[in-house]
Amino acid sequence: MRDIQPILDKVLSGERMTGEDCTALLESYDIAKIGAAAHEIRMRHNPTDVVTYIIDRNINYTNVCNVVCTFCAFYRRPGKPETYVHSIEEIEKRIEETIALGGTGVLMQGGLHPDFNIEWYENLLQTLHAKYPNFQLHCFSPPEIHNISLISKLDYETIMRRLKNAGLYSMPGGGGEILDDEVRKRVSTKCSTQEWLDVMRAVHKVGLRSTATMMFGIGDNISHRVKHLQRIRDVQDETGGFTAFIPWTFQRENTALGR
Ligand code: SF4
Repeated sequence: MRDIQPILDKVLSGERMTGEDCTALLESYDIAKIGAAAHEIRMRHNPTDVVTYIIDRNINYTNVCNVVCTFCAFYRRPGKPETYVHSIEEIEKRIEETIALGGTGVLMQGGLHPDFNIEWYENLLQTLHAKYPNFQLHCFSPPEIHNISLISKLDYETIMRRLKNAGLYSMPGGGGEILDDEVRKRVSTKCSTQEWLDVMRAVHKVGLRSTATMMFGIGDNISHRVKHLQRIRDVQDETGGFTAFIPWTFQRENTALGR
């Protein structure tokens, strides 16, 4: 195993990591050393012991989904039993419960519904934003935006501008999974790596911020994870619009891929 100290020294002196460096860190078991270096960098950006958080809630407005992801236990195909679409009143009830608990926003996402066009999303946001103007609507994800573009025949930038004008505050980075089509196409029929990245470019171009995610353990190896990180870093270099990176492991229960 490669000695990672020279890589950490390089990063601490302000140099950028290469893909090879990143591979070595991902292969290393020296988590404490990597954590200490990461903490040092973090203290340079935010030199304080104060760590902040928000109170929010996840709302999934529908589980109807037009595509198939073999790692997903949430979706139901259109017309099948157990499908649901929450009414705006049901969503408002959840928002009010969140506000009562001191919450300041929601993360709202859903499946890729075959009938929901741009007007459906605009109406949802406009209604919620008019009623809760200071409440942060952190909603949707690149696959949902790509689905709107297929249904409403609009480009990503137009969609994002319209959603922003309707009250969208920011966008979660869901649906990233592994941003490499070699892995992605084996486990999902949703938007490609390029489309996910292009949606994010459009989000940032209209002045919205977003997060980025990675779900690993779906047939990927370290080189796929490195490519994923590089692609996100490239967009960040271009736009500076990502505010957070959230990785998690594949949860296999009740999924076709898990079986
Ligand atoms: S797009 Fe994939 S992950 Fe999202 S709800 Fe549909 S099947 Fe599940």
